Amino acid sequence: MDAGAETGAETGAETGAETGAKTGAETGASASVERDQQGRVLLHGLTRPRLTRWLADELGLDEVAGRRLWHALYRQRASSLARVRGLPPSVCRRLQTRARVDALTLAEVRASADGTRKLLFDTDAGARVETVLIPGPRRTTICISSQVGCAMNCQFCLTAKMGLHGNLSAAELIGQVVVARREFPELPPIANVVFMGMGEPLHNVDNVIAATRVLVDQEGLDFGARRVTVSTSGLVPAIERLGRESPAQLAVSLNATTDELRDWLMPVNRRYPLARLMACLRAFPLRPRERVTLEYVLLAGVNDSLEDAARIHNMTEGLACKINLIPFNEHPGTEFRRPEDAVVHAFRDALRERGVSTSIRRTRGDEAMAACGQLGRPGERRARPRRTIPPARLKARLTAKPA
Ligand code: SF4
Repeated sequence: MDAGAETGAETGAETGAETGAKTGAETGASASVERDQQGRVLLHGLTRPRLTRWLADELGLDEVAGRRLWHALYRQRASSLARVRGLPPSVCRRLQTRARVDALTLAEVRASADGTRKLLFDTDAGARVETVLIPGPRRTTICISSQVGCAMNCQFCLTAKMGLHGNLSAAELIGQVVVARREFPELPPIANVVFMGMGEPLHNVDNVIAATRVLVDQEGLDFGARRVTVSTSGLVPAIERLGRESPAQLAVSLNATTDELRDWLMPVNRRYPLARLMACLRAFPLRPRERVTLEYVLLAGVNDSLEDAARIHNMTEGLACKINLIPFNEHPGTEFRRPEDAVVHAFRDALRERGVSTSIRRTRGDEAMAACGQLGRPGERRARPRRTIPPARLKARLTAKPA
């Protein structure tokens, strides 16, 4: 049986707890302690209040010790507990037996000619996790994975072909960022985090919310809340929860302007159709100058018409948002094609003429297969994701070979 989109859409949707606030109060499952197979606590999985509590409960240490350990983990980017500045050797020895720093092992780095780097991490369970560093002139963006594979079965996505192998823990989410900062000091500072790698972040909402809190802690990694973005295919209850419990920004993969098309391209739409999704976005709490990002992967002959642009304008009227157009990155075996540049520009212009803030995302990392929708090794399938049937009017276009 297909373990793909239907399962993911339904299980991922119902994880919301009716508690918490946009301020980021710790609640429910997000406050649990993660341990490795030897029973050691994975320190990167703890928010600062949880770390302080755990140190007090487990080792009888006070808040000052908690702050020193926190600084070692995130300011000094310690990889071991053998020596922690400000903590006596006897405490470090006890810590070593009970806790662990890195939850992931960096196995390989692949560099592209355009400067992007793809980091391949191994989990304890033997899975491969992919992270992408995208250096800019003044700062570097890190794109982190939230799951091994993905259950959502978006039809244009390479990761979807893997199926879902599992969630990453909060420690594994944070570990991607800490190791990258530790290993690449020569890059412009890693100052933006986007949850846009492998997986549907909000299908792993407890751990993603916990990780966003660790990222913005000013005593530690100190990312600005406006520089942490969680992207989703549209799991409405989890979006609502993110709005209440996390400081992160929201990005939503829209990719279609009718339910007919989106039901096919993104099966999550069958459970949370466009009207419900857009109502949820209108209610999403935004601070001054914040906007929801709508990502729109442009697929030649599928969703790139000027009528689509007009519908985007109608759908987003009154919503504080910006549109990020992503010309499709072709990969082996896909039936989809990237539109001509002229089509992409005409689409952008049609939106801008209507007053919709729109940009085209520059594709980087193609060589390392590290651009959007290109992470993952589809050869590692758990279950073959089901191909959904395109609307009849599109079938001929999809099977036609480009000139
Ligand atoms: S686009 Fe995102 S949500 Fe959709 S299948 Fe790919 S990784 Fe999953």
